[in-house]
Parts: sequence; structure tokens; C-alpha cells
Amino acid sequence: MYSNSTTILANKPSIHYMLLLKLIINEKNFWKTFPTLDPRTGEVIAHVAEGDAEDVNRAVSAARKAFDEGPWPKMTAYERSRVLFRFADLIEKHNDEIAALETWDNGKPFEQAAKIEVPMVVRFFRYYAGFADKIHGLTVPADGEYHVQTLHEPIGVAGQIIPWNFPLLMFAWKVAPALACGNTIVLKTAEQTPLSALYAATLLQEAGLPPGVLNVVSGFGPTAGASLASHMDIDKFAFTGSTDTGKKILELAAKSNLKTVTLELGGKSPFIVCEDADVDKAVEMAHFALFFNQGQCCCSGSRTFVHEKVYDEFLEKAKARAERRLVGDPFKGGIEQGPQPHLHFLRFCILNQIDSVQFKKILKYIDYGVKAGAKLETGGERVGTKGFYIKPTVFSDVQDDMPIACEEIFGPVQTILKYKDLNEVIRRANNSRYGLAAGVFTQNIDTANTLARALRVGSVFINCYYIFDAPIPFGGYKMSGIGREKGIYGLSNYLQVKAVVTPLKNP
Ligand code: ADP
Repeated sequence: MYSNSTTILANKPSIHYMLLLKLIINEKNFWKTFPTLDPRTGEVIAHVAEGDAEDVNRAVSAARKAFDEGPWPKMTAYERSRVLFRFADLIEKHNDEIAALETWDNGKPFEQAAKIEVPMVVRFFRYYAGFADKIHGLTVPADGEYHVQTLHEPIGVAGQIIPWNFPLLMFAWKVAPALACGNTIVLKTAEQTPLSALYAATLLQEAGLPPGVLNVVSGFGPTAGASLASHMDIDKFAFTGSTDTGKKILELAAKSNLKTVTLELGGKSPFIVCEDADVDKAVEMAHFALFFNQGQCCCSGSRTFVHEKVYDEFLEKAKARAERRLVGDPFKGGIEQGPQPHLHFLRFCILNQIDSVQFKKILKYIDYGVKAGAKLETGGERVGTKGFYIKPTVFSDVQDDMPIACEEIFGPVQTILKYKDLNEVIRRANNSRYGLAAGVFTQNIDTANTLARALRVGSVFINCYYIFDAPIPFGGYKMSGIGREKGIYGLSNYLQVKAVVTPLKNP
């Protein structure tokens, strides 16, 4: 296993410090590091070894060797499955430590990480561990005197890049199916949140994953990420992140070796509240669909369409709900919203400057909303002066062509739009370059069915949102992505189909 792990120059808090000490210290790379920060305070948590093109080459060589010569694809499927089950057990055992790393590095509420996300990671690995020995081909009834069969084989070395909003969950979405199918991996984490994947890699080693099978590189997009996407020895690429970066990945893959690519990209998902909806429940669900994870979900319900009959009541209650949202230190019990993650620009500046691209981007969009004439009902500014907290924000009177209604904000900003009838809302909801998800809130089964079929998106949540159990496929229409992850659909991303033809009689 190649890992350009973590160098500890960290300061407090001491419980977390002990946890970080478990991560491998790589003295050779001591000088080539970047700091990862605590978004609550802007303080440095740890300096992480920074992978560059040379590290990517070394990682790909290790993965290539482990695939071509190594034990992983040659182990029995049952043995591979047992490694993944053991890993899931280890994650479960270290649930709270891992959740603490996620919260510390990303800023998400600890309760959310500990009770929802880390258990989902466990579920995800168990789901795909169970598939490892159930992947098989077909016998094909072809014309002629031939026995025709298909073999479903691993593709080879998978390159994977993940974002910062759900660091370990995205690790699971990528790594679990790839390993279950017998591939080896080089995975690059997001520069904002490198810690949990490094810790998980050490647990996979403990679970018995052979050397070279999973290689985690911490590093930046234009350097480590681009080297990985353009590498000639990567057979398959999987990316989750912004649509702009997804385009770059596809271009790099095409210009290099035509590796197959799956992309899970941005969204501007409609959440449609119908005239018959129970308004209190609709408000709560729409609030959850937008504000969960600090509003940083690619499929967040970020265009709240409300039928004119219930619009005024909905607006008043949505505003009140946003004002009740508990924002604060994500390690405190009951907190619903933590700070937005950020980067440290020490590497690029003479001054020790701390900045948050994400935080500034959200505030910029709020400003656009006001300038475009939307009504700022509540929020619209940062909370306090320390850390990167943003007040839950609600806009009403939003028009379809405003930047806040068509571009991805990726923050706690709800935009509420009024509509009159079903055909109108279908047209407006589909009038987006994105097509990741949609929410529908109605008590009428005909309305639900009509909308489910008419909306050009990869997931429709009816009277619910963010139901993400492992078997449910996920992916985008239009510029929200290519391919599907999760469920049985996620397996085909990591398999080649080989046709084997044998005459029934020797010629
Ligand atoms: P966001 O704007 O949400 O940070 P990005 O698409 O920029 O989304 O980042 C998602 C992931 O893509 C991160 O791991 C990042 O390092 C990586 N990335 C960013 N730019 C590039 C690039 N040019 N080539 C490859 N990977 C990149």
C-alpha cells in the first residue's frame, strides 16, 4: 500500500491529537506538506504530505503491480469479501473516532457524522462485500454450434477523486464496489479534508488488504488530480465534484488513454411542494433537503418550488424554521449546522492567510440574490467573526433566471419560487443544465407519479429526501454526470465483459 500520509505538526484538541498520531508519519515528505484546518477556528489540525505527479506515478505503479501480479484479483472472491467485511467491522468499532475526524476536518455536526454517515459507510462496505462472490457472467444462446459465455472481469487499476463534503462516505462509494469487483485503486482525497481516508486506509490494511491494492494520495486537483486523470496506466476513472472539474477529467481521460469515466457532478435540484401538501411537513422536509450538511450536498433541494395556494403559509414557516436552526460548534450536542470547510493559503502567500473559497462563494451568491431583486427573508451574513459559519438564509420572490436559482451555491441558502400549475412547474424544474435529483411533496398519488416520470433527474424523492441506502442507485441526467453509482448498477462501472466462444464439436 502506498500512502503519502500525514505528518503531525498539530496542535490541540488533545483527544483528537491522540487520534491523529495513529496516522503514519512519513519523514521523507516532511517538507512537502499542506495544512488541513479546523473550520471552527481556522487553526491548523495537521500538515499532510502533499502528493504530486511523482507520487501519483509511484501509487499507480503499486496498484498496477498489485493488479497484474499481486494477490487481489487472484484471491478467491470469498477471501476478498471477507477482507471487506472485516474492514466494515473495524469502521464500526472506530465509529466515533472516525466521526470526530470528519467533524474536525470538515465542520459537519458530530452527531450527523457519528449516527448517520459512518454507519452508512459500514452498510456500504457490507453491501458490496456481499457482492464479491456473486459476480458472474451469462451463458448466451447464440446461433450456431457454439457454447458462448460471458466473463465479468475487473477492469484493472481504478483512479478515483473525491470531494470534501462527505469525505469518508464518498471514499466508500468509490472504494467498496471497485474492491469487491477485484480492481486495485489510486484514490485522491480533497485538499480540504484529507484525514478520514488516510485513517480508513490504515484500517483496510489491518483488515488484510494486500499491499498496493488501495493507494491514497493527499493532494491538490490541478497537480495530483490532473496527473491521475491523465495517467496512461489507469484503466477506469471515477470522479465526484464540480461540473467544471468533471469536464476537465473527461478531457484528460480522452487525451490520454481513453480510460472509461464515470462522473457524479453538480446539481440544482427542484423540491416541489404541491397545493395539497401538508405544509408543516413540507416545510420540514424542504428545510432538511436544503440545509442538511451545511447545504453542501450535490443533490440538495436548492430550488424550492411552492404552489401559490400554500406559498404564503409555507414561506412564513420556512423562514421561522431557518431562524430556529441551531448553528454552532459541530462537536456540541444538538447542533444542526457547523461551519463551511476552508483551505489554508500558506503555501501560496507570504502572509499566513486563511481563506475560504466556499465561504466567500456563498456570501457572493447571497449578494447576487439581493442585487437581482430577490427578497432576503432571513440570514444573509456570517455568524460571529471566528470560523466560517453562515446564518441559515432564505430568499423569496426568486425568479428562474436569477443566479441563485440556476447556479449551484453549495451552502445554507434556500431559494423559494412560486408556481401555479403542474405543467408549469415541470417545465421550470426541467429548465436546468443539471438533472441530479428532485423532491416532490404531495398527498396525491397521480401527481406524484406524473412528476416522477416527467422530471429529468437521476433520483426522485417523494415525500422524503436523502434516502441513500447502499442498494439505491445514484447519478445524474444532463450535466449532473455520467453513469450510476451504488446498488447493482455501481458494479458495472468496475467490470469488463468478455465473450468466450467455444465450438460444441472440435473442428
Ligand atoms: P469543489 O469546487 O466542490 O471543491 P472540485 O471539483 O474543485 O469541487 O473538487 C472536487 C475534487 O476534484 C477535489 O478532490 C479536487 O482536488 C479535485 N480537482 C479539482 N481540480 C481538479 C483538476 N483540474 N484535475 C483533477 N482533479 C481536480
